[in-house]
Amino acid sequence: MGKIISIANQKGGVGKTTSSVNLSASLAHYGKKVLLVDTDPQGNATSGLGINKGDVDQCIYNILVEDARAKDTLVESDTPNLDVIPATIQLAGAEIELVPTISREIRLKQALDEVRSDYDYIIIDCPPSLGLLTINALTASDTVIIPVQCEYYALEGLSQLLNTIRLVQKHLNKQLMIDGVLLTMLDARTNLGIQVIEEVKKYFQDKVYQAIIPRNVRLGEAPSYGKPIITYDAKSRGAEVYLELAKEVMENDTRVG
Ligand code: ADP
Ligand code: MG
Repeated sequence: MGKIISIANQKGGVGKTTSSVNLSASLAHYGKKVLLVDTDPQGNATSGLGINKGDVDQCIYNILVEDARAKDTLVESDTPNLDVIPATIQLAGAEIELVPTISREIRLKQALDEVRSDYDYIIIDCPPSLGLLTINALTASDTVIIPVQCEYYALEGLSQLLNTIRLVQKHLNKQLMIDGVLLTMLDARTNLGIQVIEEVKKYFQDKVYQAIIPRNVRLGEAPSYGKPIITYDAKSRGAEVYLELAKEVMENDTRVG
């Protein structure tokens, strides 16, 4: 049975999509069968893996709002072992359209249950909000990865996210756990980055991954070529660190059993 991991933080620009794409590709690199589910209407994970949104016939919208089967929306990416359930701008209306529907919080879970046994990992890239799309993702997940950008106010807003996680645990998904907190976009030349690392470690302790994602030009460039970093520049520091993160995520899995 595949493990389902959401990458969530309601702040935009903290590295959710970059981490979703590159963790997925890194796990696939280690021979794991991976499905990346894009739940952000912007569809950056979709295009970041080279999938042309204009060619997408059915997307996550059709799963959530129209009961489409996950199998009918799957697209193979150019990366071996890595499939994608894409998102298009059609998804932008989904949160409002979902409000009056029955079982609106568990639709993604129901759809993923049908394909779960085909994968080792299912990674869900969440949108920058705590609305029904993120709730669907958290409800479907075994664990959540929280990316935190190494900048001023790094911890700001995290209490709302943790509160949402607690509400989901209480009402929708008792099993949900925090897989880890991922520090992103570290600028090693500044003291600020070091301070933020200390602050986040003080708060989350051993939940913080050892792998810390540096600010890396190649990581920022790769999406415009529709490639994960290990395909775009395997020798870059960004590629190395996402491979290290993938190892930690796999180790967490063996610890949890
Ligand atoms: P989110 O999904 O949380 O909104 P993204 O992953 O899209 O965040 O990242 C925001 C922007 O920062 C994107 O343009 C992305 O390419 C860039 N970016 C993300 N991580 C890094 C990094 N480690 N180094 C350099 N640029 C990055
Ligand atoms: Mg994103």
